[in-house]
Amino acid sequence: MSKSTIDETHDPARQSWVASANGHVDFPIQNLPLGVFTPPGSDDPRLGTAIGDQILDLRGLHQDKLIDGDAAALTARTLNALFARPSAERRALRRNLSALLSDSAVEARVSQHLYAMQTCILHLPAEIGDYADFYVGIHHATAVGKLFRPDNPLLPNYKHVPIGYHGRASSIRVSGEAVTRPNGQTKAPDADAPVFGPSQRLDYELELGVFIGGENALGRPVPIHEASERIAGFCLLNDWSSRDVQAWEYQPLGPFLAKNFHSTISPWVITAEALAPFRTAPLARPEGDPAPQPYLFDAEDQTEGAYRIRLGAEIRTQAMRDAALPPARLAASKAEAAMYWTVAQIIAHHAVGGCNLRPGDLLGTGTLSGAQPDEAGSLLELTHGGKQPLVLPSGETRRFLEDGDELSLFAHAEAAGYVSIGFGACTARILPAPEVP
Ligand code: MN
Repeated sequence: MSKSTIDETHDPARQSWVASANGHVDFPIQNLPLGVFTPPGSDDPRLGTAIGDQILDLRGLHQDKLIDGDAAALTARTLNALFARPSAERRALRRNLSALLSDSAVEARVSQHLYAMQTCILHLPAEIGDYADFYVGIHHATAVGKLFRPDNPLLPNYKHVPIGYHGRASSIRVSGEAVTRPNGQTKAPDADAPVFGPSQRLDYELELGVFIGGENALGRPVPIHEASERIAGFCLLNDWSSRDVQAWEYQPLGPFLAKNFHSTISPWVITAEALAPFRTAPLARPEGDPAPQPYLFDAEDQTEGAYRIRLGAEIRTQAMRDAALPPARLAASKAEAAMYWTVAQIIAHHAVGGCNLRPGDLLGTGTLSGAQPDEAGSLLELTHGGKQPLVLPSGETRRFLEDGDELSLFAHAEAAGYVSIGFGACTARILPAPEVP
C-alpha cells in the first residue's frame, strides 16, 4: 500500500466511541489490526480487529450485515482466505470498520460484537504454510560477522543478494506460549568432540514478520513493482536461536536445529493499509555499494519502500518477577535504519526463480539491530558473543537467556502528523530443557 492510499482512516483527528481506543499506545482507531480470537465461554475461533482494550468480532459483524465482503473469508477461522483476496477488499474492510467504530449512531449495534481483549484467547493469525527468514539487518550482519571475521565482517554476497534461509512453519507459536529450551549437539571451540545436552547459549532475535497476500503461480516470479502489493501485513517475530547449536551445525548449509525448535509471533497483523503513512525512503546505500540488480530495483520502492517502525526488547527474569521489578529494556532500534533490503525486495527475490508465495506465508526480516551498541537486537551482539555479560536491575547478569526468563518484543510505527500505532506484545517465557533419556 503506497502512501497514495492514505485516506480518512488515517486521519489523526478520528476518534472512536470505544473510549479506550483514544490515545491507546497500540490500538487506536487508526490501527485496526487483524487477528484470530476465541471469546470467553466459546470454543469457536473467529476473525477480529483490536480496538483499544477490546476485540471486535468480524464474523459477528458480517452475520449482522454490518460489514461487506467475501463471506467465506470473513467467517473463516484464519486470515488465509482474507489474505487471498485482492488488497482492495482489505482496504474496503478497513474503511468499513473505521466508519463503524467512529460513528456513534451505530454504537449500540456494533458494541454487541465487542469483547474485552483480556478475556479472549488469541491464536496464530494464519495457518502458515511456509516460512523463510532473511538477514536484511545490516548492522546485525556486520556485528555478528565481526565476531567471526573482524577484518571482513560482511561476506561478498551480502550487498548483492538478500540472504535468507527456509525456516520451519510448524513450530511458529503465538505470543504467550512458553518456549522449551532445546537439547542439542554442541562443540566448544577448544573441545575435541561435541557433547549433547541443553543449549547453553539460548538467544532471541528482534525481527519483523511479513504475512504474504495473494499468490503467484509456480514458475511466475513477482515483479518488484508488484511486490509491495503482496504484503498483507506485519507482526513481531522472535526467532529464538540456540547459538551453540548454530555454531556447530551451520556449515555448510546454514541454520537448522538452532532455529527450528520454536519461533514466537505477535497475534495481531498490522495491515499494509494501516502502515501507509509510515512508509519512507530505505537506508541510503553508501557510495561504492553495488546498485541492486534490475529485478530488485523499483523507483517507488526506492522512495518509500521502508517503514518508520521503532522496535524494542525487554527482559524480566524470575528474580525480577519475585521482587516485583518491571521488565528491563535490553535495546531499541529503528526498522528504517536497519534494513539494507526492503520488504518488496525480499519478496521479489524469494520468488525470482519462480517460487510460489501463498497467502499466509511468513517472511522474517532478520534481526533488526541499529548501528549503536544499545541498539542490538540479540544477546549475541549485546554481550559480544557472551564475553561481556549484561547487568540487570535485579543485580543478576546475563550472557544468554536462562530458564524462567521472559522476553518481550515491542514495535510502534511513528511519523509526524499521524497517530502512532503499535504491534502489541510478543512475549514468551523460557522453560527448562526436557531430560535426555
Ligand atoms: Mn533470524
